[in-house]
Amino acid sequence: MEFKEIYCNNCKKTLGKYNVKYFSDARIAELIKSSHGMHYRSGHQLLIRKVTK
Ligand SMILES: [Zn+2]
Repeated sequence: MEFKEIYCNNCKKTLGKYNVKYFSDARIAELIKSSHGMHYRSGHQLLIRKVTK
């Protein structure tokens, strides 16, 4: 299965993993603003990494 992982380069941690089958890029961008808004608003560098498991 393929996942997209949202990683915060400032906090050095993974914020969430989302199955690409259910989460489109637009949905993930939305999640970054809603669920991870604290990092987003603080200007943290969020990286989206592709992971295969
Ligand atoms: Zn952060």
